[in-house]
This record gives sequence, structure tokens and C-alpha cells, in this order.
Amino acid sequence: MKTRRIPLFVANWKLHNSVRDSLDYVNSIQRNCGPIADREVVIAGPFMALKDVYEQLTRPGFRVGAQNCFWEDAGAFTGEVSASMLAEVGCAYVILGHSERRRLFAETDDMVNLKIHASLRNGMVPILCVGEELSTREAGKTSDAVGAQVHRAIRGIDPKVAGKIVIAYEPIWAIGTGRSATPTQIQEVHVFIRGEIARIFGDSTAESIRMIYGGSVSASNICELMNEPDVDGALVGSASLKVESFAKIICFDRK
Ligand code: PEP
Repeated sequence: MKTRRIPLFVANWKLHNSVRDSLDYVNSIQRNCGPIADREVVIAGPFMALKDVYEQLTRPGFRVGAQNCFWEDAGAFTGEVSASMLAEVGCAYVILGHSERRRLFAETDDMVNLKIHASLRNGMVPILCVGEELSTREAGKTSDAVGAQVHRAIRGIDPKVAGKIVIAYEPIWAIGTGRSATPTQIQEVHVFIRGEIARIFGDSTAESIRMIYGGSVSASNICELMNEPDVDGALVGSASLKVESFAKIICFDRK
């Protein structure tokens, strides 16, 4: 296990699990995992379940996350949920800029930037998702695309808090497809992003920022991914829906 940065495993449930299912799941995963004091686990459930999940997650290392937030704290924004409301019910993390939100809900880098500001202002850690289309990778333009997303999303962030941000590299072609990027491809992009962060915020922030990978992570590939020096954890969709498979991912280095 790498020791410099605390490993982070995020369950992105998307639009799954009722409040009842969520509570059953969190009780079961806490029993299954045993002590996880040396890593962090974030359960990013549906909005409706977050408060109950927070109250039920009593073991050290387990945190609650949201899958989105709005950038204003309050106002005439029908249907939105603000970062301040999420913080109030115990959310410590919020996933922002997921490719499904960019594609299905027309989220732009500018919106993601406003949401990152809102989450930091309210004391939550943003998990910024970036990633390229397959055609972009095949055209050799992965760094251009991912670099532009990162730069636009973190514009205007106070360097004093920038080190808290988590960046999730999620190649779009690997999400929900069963086709993970290779450890070499992932390490290459993570090193590139860390270099960009160093140019903007300096080496010590770049060293402390956690970079996690998402895209068809499973109990069978987590070990090889975590072997890469710049992979600090995983953002997990499908394989986080079952307690058994997510527990194996969290405890990848235990017998
Ligand atoms: C995701 O939704 O962020 C994701 C990585 O999904 P999956 O693990 O199913 O590819």
C-alpha cells in the first residue's frame, strides 16, 4: 500500500437503491470490511438517502458523498440541491462533472467550476471527473482534452484549498463497458494531470492531490490498478452496487 496519500474508494450508485436498500447496504459493508482506518470509503448514494446513510455510517473511514450539487446556496432554482444543504446532512464529498451529467444534462466545464467553488465554500471535498471519448484517445488527443477539462474546472480556486480536491480520471469509453483502461494508460494520464496541477498550484499541492481512476473497476483488476504509483484509489459504478464486490475492492490488499 502506498503511504503518502490516503487511498480513497468511492461508490457511485447513480440512480440505484431506495432509502431502505441504502441502509441495508451500509450496515452490511461496515460489517464486511472490518477496520479501514488507513483508507477512506465514500458512499455516494441518492439524495433522499444521504442523511440516513450519514447517521448509519459509524465506523472510522466511512464517509457520505453526493453525486451532484448546485452552485448557489439558496434562491429561485426549482429542483436544485445546494452544496450547503448537502453539507448540512453530513456529506463530506461530492462527485462533480461526471460524464453522464455532462452528456445527459449538458453540464459544461464552467458549471463544474462553479460547483467546485460551491463545494469547497461549504467544506465539502469535490471529486472532479474528467475523461476523454474513445475517438479522442484514438486521435492521440487525450492530454489536450483532459488538460482542458482540468484547467477550466479549477479556474479561480484558492491555492490554499486546492490540495483538498480529488481528481477522478474516467475515460468515457471505460465507464460501464467492462473495458477498463490499462494500468499504463491510467498512470500516464495521472502523471500528466499531476504535472498540470504542479504548474498551476505548485509541487506540494500536486503531491497531495489524490487522483483516482474510474471505468469498469472490479475486484479482479483493482490490485493491478493500485500498483501504479499515481493511482490513489477508485471511483466505482457497477461493482459498487453489491456489497461483496465493493468490499473486495476496498480491501484489495488483504487476504
Ligand atoms: C462511474 O459511473 O463513474 C463508473 C466508473 O462506472 P463503472 O464502474 O460501472 O464503469
